[in-house]
Amino acid sequence: MYGTGLAKGLMLTLRHFIDSFVDDLRYGLRKYSHATDNFGLRQGTAAKGVVTVQYPDEKVAVPERFRFVPFLIVEDEDHPSRSGKDWCTSCGICAKVCPPQCIWIVRGNDPDTGRPVPEPEAFFIDIDICMNCGYCAEYCPFDAIKMDHDYELASYDRTSHHIHDKEKLSKPASYWRDIAPTRAYEEMLVRGTWEHKDAAKEARRGSAGGGSSSRAQETRAEAAPAPVAAAAETAPSAPAASASAEGATPWSEDDAKREERRRKALERKAKRAARSGG
Ligand code: SF4
Ligand code: SF4
Repeated sequence: MYGTGLAKGLMLTLRHFIDSFVDDLRYGLRKYSHATDNFGLRQGTAAKGVVTVQYPDEKVAVPERFRFVPFLIVEDEDHPSRSGKDWCTSCGICAKVCPPQCIWIVRGNDPDTGRPVPEPEAFFIDIDICMNCGYCAEYCPFDAIKMDHDYELASYDRTSHHIHDKEKLSKPASYWRDIAPTRAYEEMLVRGTWEHKDAAKEARRGSAGGGSSSRAQETRAEAAPAPVAAAAETAPSAPAASASAEGATPWSEDDAKREERRRKALERKAKRAARSGG
């Protein structure tokens, strides 16, 4: 019959409307209590009625995969050997893949030799142009750029507040582990360590030579937050795996065969060159 759907929709709206008042009465003043999780419950899927969030006094918790503007990861202040160091190697991949081209990077140079060093001297993101797509974070091979949860960035001054420089973009690795523990853990599994790839390499070299880097690595594992530390226990240990690989024969049978093929190919090439020359 015509109009049935319309009547059903209106009834649903009316039910939510009434439920809102019933729910308000049920919670009473407890709604404003910070001692309980009433606010969280009323924002959950089990909530009834329509709830008005009294923003900015109340804020709805964002999901872990929520993304706003990007930020750069730097080592925690208490890192034993790389305190405050950038994870970014200024490879430029994020700037290349950014669809609206809102990332600018200036690669650093060694002041003595003038040679490029793997860290950015300057890094800018125009957050008014950024469309929060997350490509930069997806493509970064060093897990150095991440999407932030902080969405309260409105201001009247576009130049100083909406073009984020390196100082504004940089946040410690522990911040990323706090806002996205699951993602951080998954990334750690792929990397094989909680550390930056370069730090892990140093640690492997250190452990091979019995140096201090491996001890730094252990310290970091101990310093990780509880849920993260628990995860670390089950994670594969890249330094250990690598150490065993280093202990294996470096010159395998496959390598020998490959070298033999290469030698024969070079011989054939030399003969061809001699024939054409003669
Ligand atoms: S989130 Fe997207 S638009 Fe924003 S800086 Fe990253 S790649 Fe560019
Ligand atoms: S892709 Fe990652 S490492 Fe490369 S410049 Fe961007 S943030 Fe830095």
